[in-house]
Amino acid sequence: MTPLPRLAWYHRAGPDPKRPGPLGCLLEGRFHDLEGILGDLAYDARACLAEGCLRASKLEELARLSGEGSPEPPAEGFGLPIPEPGKVLCLGKNYAAHAAEFGAEPPKEPMWFNKLPEALIPAGRPIPLPPSLGRVDHEGELVLVLGASGKDLDEEEAVALVAGLTIGNDVTARDMQQRDRERGHPWVRCKSFDGFGPVGPWVVPFEEFFGADGPPADGTPDLEIEVRVDGEVRQHSRTGSMLHRIAQAVAWFSRHTTLRPGDLCFTGTPEGVSPLNPGSCVEVSIEGIGTLANPVVEA
Ligand code: MN
Repeated sequence: MTPLPRLAWYHRAGPDPKRPGPLGCLLEGRFHDLEGILGDLAYDARACLAEGCLRASKLEELARLSGEGSPEPPAEGFGLPIPEPGKVLCLGKNYAAHAAEFGAEPPKEPMWFNKLPEALIPAGRPIPLPPSLGRVDHEGELVLVLGASGKDLDEEEAVALVAGLTIGNDVTARDMQQRDRERGHPWVRCKSFDGFGPVGPWVVPFEEFFGADGPPADGTPDLEIEVRVDGEVRQHSRTGSMLHRIAQAVAWFSRHTTLRPGDLCFTGTPEGVSPLNPGSCVEVSIEGIGTLANPVVEA
């Protein structure tokens, strides 16, 4: 379902999941290490974003300057594509069929919660499930990577702030969320356990999803999204079904908080969320990006 994208930004895995190796670039089937040409900057994703390195033309130029590259992905695997995002903004109930599976009406304005950046783990790393938590669900989601700073943006400016797209799994302790819902605050701790935020394996420049005319006014590409657990399809939808569109959501966030390079935005999950169990492997695939796969283990 998901061949390699033509062009993507990645970090090599480092010794510590929170401290990835240098920036690299996948271009036309070859993996290029960019440390040689970027030096220390290759370890500073937010600075690279601010320099425009995720723009397709710039990233391609860096790949070509770096030499031939390798047909093999880095032996150590991939690190977080944005190692230390300043914030991880999330949209809840952003697909009508997902809201309906919990008996909820879709929200009239974006429903905002955050995941703690500490929850994030790269592709391939295990998702640890504390045994006391009860049901824990996968939520496959399209994730926006912002490339610049902005506040009080209109929708056109908001779309221009999106530098790339990646894949996320908004892992959620569902039993805890149901109990916390009765207490009136169901959105924070159930989604922020360590490892409850797989992201990656890489970021595809936003321009790669659109033709010469650029993104549509609502900023939202229509991509197939699928989640499999041990190969069995659990979620299957299209990002074009999201309710609050990318332009609207990013502009809305920017009316509350200053957006910064490297900030991530999880855009909500479609229907079909289901429980994870230790020993399983969960994969989220999005058309044009690839597959984010993580094993599940007991914490
Ligand atoms: Mn979610």
